[in-house]
Amino acid sequence: MQESNQVTPLRSNLSNKRTLTRIAIQEDPDLRHKLVHALQTTLDVQTLLDIFIKYLNQQLPIGGLSYRHPTRGIHLSLGQDNRHHCDYRLITPRDDLGEIRFNRAKRFSEAEMARIESLLGTLIHPLRNALQYHDALKAALHDALTGTGNRVAMDTAIRRELQLAERYQQPLSLMMVDLDYFKQINDRYGHAVGDEVLHEVAQTIMQVARATDMTFRYGGEEFMVVLSNTDVRGAEIIAERVREAIVLLDIQQGDHCLKVTASLGLAQWQPKMSAKALFEQADKALYRAKHQGRNRVATNDNASAVMGA
Ligand code: GH3
Ligand code: MG
Ligand code: MG
Repeated sequence: MQESNQVTPLRSNLSNKRTLTRIAIQEDPDLRHKLVHALQTTLDVQTLLDIFIKYLNQQLPIGGLSYRHPTRGIHLSLGQDNRHHCDYRLITPRDDLGEIRFNRAKRFSEAEMARIESLLGTLIHPLRNALQYHDALKAALHDALTGTGNRVAMDTAIRRELQLAERYQQPLSLMMVDLDYFKQINDRYGHAVGDEVLHEVAQTIMQVARATDMTFRYGGEEFMVVLSNTDVRGAEIIAERVREAIVLLDIQQGDHCLKVTASLGLAQWQPKMSAKALFEQADKALYRAKHQGRNRVATNDNASAVMGA
């Protein structure tokens, strides 16, 4: 199908404003064949681009490559950034596959740009597949309502972070966030408004917590943040910021603002502690925060002992 090879040049290279003209180029068919084959071996966008730049470099010197797909939130850079570049929008009649920029210190000749353009055709099908795989992975690991990671992603992340903490003897803390009297919000304003509140709160937590990809929704109105390389003292500072940011949230409902608060429970991981035990510690702390009046941060005893040490 013709469409699959269509790429749209955005502009030619920085020092050459002339229109890109096609020039007959000598291409090594064996290399092209190898490239097509190599591109079929992965569904990971970054690995795909790695393979592409490696093969392209056998044809002409490239300093670096960057790839962006804004609506999918992908921005990857390989190699260095240089003064001269040529950009392509990878648009087919079927879909928008993002933008790719090649750069290097020396300006690109027209023949070189024509060669890049020719080889870009090989990237279209594998890139489309990789983007679809990226979407599927994202859907499998993210909570559709709030944009946080889901429980599957959380279990994987906790296991991975625990291993890293153990191996590098780094601190690790867990932060549980549970909205206060959330049932009343649903009862008073309806489920759709409740959903909006959940979304706003999740966005707030992700903005405040440094590692945005470490925020997970693990229950209806309950979130978990995995704070890697953070001891309980650091976790308390972040938790207090999260609590305050939620208090400051104004969720507009008709002519008035809806306010919401949350209680937070913290636990610091100790060597040899299982993920389950860590989870239970944070849950206990959260229970205490609720019991002591809500809209507050509580820390588990274990971590308090560490603080006092
Ligand atoms: P507490 O301060 O003790 O945490 O009180 P609470 O009302 O927040 O806690 P409770 O566990 O009694 O109620 C949680 C509510 O969260 C009940 C349920 O309807 C609501 N909820 C759970 N998932 C969703 C959801 O996806 N959307 C909406 N709108 N509400 C949800
Ligand atoms: Mg709850
Ligand atoms: Mg609650």
